[in-house]
Amino acid sequence: MNEKIYEYKDSTDWYVAKWGDFNALGQFSQVSVEAGTIFKQLQESLNVEASEFPLELKILRYQSAYRLVVFLVDIINKERERELELIQRQGAILVVEKGRLLFVHLPNGGIELSEFLGAEEIKDTLLIATRNEGKTKEFRKLFGKLGYTVENLNDYPELPEIEETGVTFEENARLKAETISKLTGKMVLADDSGLQVDILGGLPGVWSARFAGVDATDTENNIKLLHELAMVFELKDRAAHFHTTLVVASPDRDSLVVEADWPGYINFEPKGENGFGYDPLFLVGETGKTSAELTIEEKNEQSHRAKAVKKLMEVFPAWQSKPSLS
Ligand code: IMP
Repeated sequence: MNEKIYEYKDSTDWYVAKWGDFNALGQFSQVSVEAGTIFKQLQESLNVEASEFPLELKILRYQSAYRLVVFLVDIINKERERELELIQRQGAILVVEKGRLLFVHLPNGGIELSEFLGAEEIKDTLLIATRNEGKTKEFRKLFGKLGYTVENLNDYPELPEIEETGVTFEENARLKAETISKLTGKMVLADDSGLQVDILGGLPGVWSARFAGVDATDTENNIKLLHELAMVFELKDRAAHFHTTLVVASPDRDSLVVEADWPGYINFEPKGENGFGYDPLFLVGETGKTSAELTIEEKNEQSHRAKAVKKLMEVFPAWQSKPSLS
């Protein structure tokens, strides 16, 4: 049995800890709920298995969270060769390792946020690489819930237009997100979408907006598509899908990429009044309805963009909290 005893004692606090080979790991004998919570939360924040944390802690007197955290950090640094450091800020206790914040303990009643952060503007911003206020509004709804201030390119009139010179959706979305992120130093979200028709080898693809030529209207693009498919008489041979790629770029980490498809067929003639682009020609799955016959709510529940955004919301928090590259 390889055991070590640690002790701290003053007039208000008295702890004894035993580090060694226990069957019951990470044990704690309770005289204070707060001390128990600190012990458990610190253990979780350091992301160690219970088996790597063979510590039995007895609290005989307890008053100071700070004292307890100092005591525990000291033991962990010694036993596990970690480099944990303690920082006190406005009454909060922070545990940091190599510049990475791992644990925060707040005093009762909390602390003033702006004082704690030392800044008036507290929230991080997410810049959407679009001038379209409708698109921005949708993203603002989603990212507002995660605590972000959402801006768009109209807030940065001095930024240059980014040419979509890529030949894949991902190249174009990356080009926009990563270029603007470099220029502004902000986290930037960009999207690129389009229609892909199987029998046309994936065209119009990244050229969807300009299929019939630069500055083509939606009607001109739809006429061109019908013309290209004029000799394809069976609906089953006119399979297609809308595609969306979303890229989030940040100066200090590899970009996050998600994508989604919405499958269907190209009809023989336009139907429906809603939507935009190729919606009047796009038959949704096997429904027989074009996406221009769906209400905006119906389309927003199932479209390529909706699916991609849903995927993004699932993976964004983990990506955002990953350590940075530097
Ligand atoms: P963007 O990348 O979202 O600007 O989309 C590029 C082009 O793809 C649009 O100009 C449309 O022609 C087409 N497109 C993308 N999404 C849709 C859609 O939901 N319905 C119809 N057309 C779309």
